[in-house]
Amino acid sequence: MEKIMAINSGSSSLKFKLFAMPAEKELAAGQIERIGIDGSRVTIKNQAGEKYTEETPVPDHKAAVGLLMKLLRQLSIVTNPEEITGVGHRVVAGGEVYKQSVIVSDDDVAQIKALAEYAPLHNPANGAGIQAFRELLPQAVSVAVFDTSFHQTLPPENYIYSVPYEWYEKWGVRRYGAHGTSHRYVTQRAADLLGKPYEQLKLISCHLGNGSSICAVQNGQSFDTSMGFTPLAGLTMGTRSGDVDPSLVGFVMDKLGITNGNEMVTLLNHEAGLKGISGISSDMRDILAQAADGNDRAQLALDIFVRNIVRYVGQYVAEMGGADAIIFTAGIGENSAPIRRLVLERLAYLGIKIDSAANEHPDGDCAISTADSAVAVLRVKTNEELMIARDVQRLAHEAH
Ligand code: ADP
Repeated sequence: MEKIMAINSGSSSLKFKLFAMPAEKELAAGQIERIGIDGSRVTIKNQAGEKYTEETPVPDHKAAVGLLMKLLRQLSIVTNPEEITGVGHRVVAGGEVYKQSVIVSDDDVAQIKALAEYAPLHNPANGAGIQAFRELLPQAVSVAVFDTSFHQTLPPENYIYSVPYEWYEKWGVRRYGAHGTSHRYVTQRAADLLGKPYEQLKLISCHLGNGSSICAVQNGQSFDTSMGFTPLAGLTMGTRSGDVDPSLVGFVMDKLGITNGNEMVTLLNHEAGLKGISGISSDMRDILAQAADGNDRAQLALDIFVRNIVRYVGQYVAEMGGADAIIFTAGIGENSAPIRRLVLERLAYLGIKIDSAANEHPDGDCAISTADSAVAVLRVKTNEELMIARDVQRLAHEAH
């Protein structure tokens, strides 16, 4: 049995899951928060669901990894660090360099940092996590799994923007997409559930969480996706605007007296979306509750959210010339029967028939459409960490 770790490092946090492979059994999960800030805290949950938590200073990512390894031993989750044969790291931006997951070399560490101009908040932190594990667990293979790489199969007409072509040639201005690991996982799972070859399906994956994106997957490859040059584009999200007319950027900057474009992008990332429209919350549960109480702005935020999903699904059906299945995943997609129903009612024109009982009370990963629905609809729980662990295992075996 191999133990493989999946890591998501942010600038002040490090989340992990430890799997026994190939059994795909989750042995532990947890996080270290407030790295480099007062009040650092570690939380670890074992297989039995028992939670250990401790507040202790954690100055940097290396200290975080050291603490994690010490606690995993102390809590008898691993007996000896050598048991961990591989560590997979989520990396946000892979640019055009990374078309799939890779075993990390020194050059890759430098490359991931160099790609920081496409994800200034994330790639440096992802790189710091990789470096810390490579130093402290040198025997374990390090693998980088990129949010963008699944979308490297997009055809040029779906990734080139209608702007001067030199911007692409000189600076890599194009659609990269995101959430690739989640879309890859849930669409493969959908093919399993449908009992059909992944390479022969037309699938539309709706990842609806705090960040939301939709992906059209044709013949086992990402064909189009709603996020763009960065994860700011596409659907209305918790705090992100999704698609807007770029000319409003300059207009609002003038009104607000903002001279730095990045400040405006920060506003569109953090003050827009459900939060901006409703003025209440970025959390869909709050929006649904307030809309039910008759709050007009919450209702408007909800209507816009649903309309956007309907619009993108329609676009992808048109682009692929049909769809075999639509998948709902992530916090909202997995848990909100009302949102799924509101979207699906508007897709009745595709011949979709909802199985109301299954939609209201889905049993794990399952169909929420009836057997005679022209397009299958599935609810699938995403598991990016497991996808990362699978990549680590596959690449480690290929390398031997
Ligand atoms: P992230 O993108 O941060 O990983 P998640 O995938 O966890 O986020 O999704 C968070 C979103 O899911 C929040 O908007 C939250 O309100 C929503 N959510 C979680 N459970 C429900 C539910 N039962 N009904 C509606 N929305 C839900």
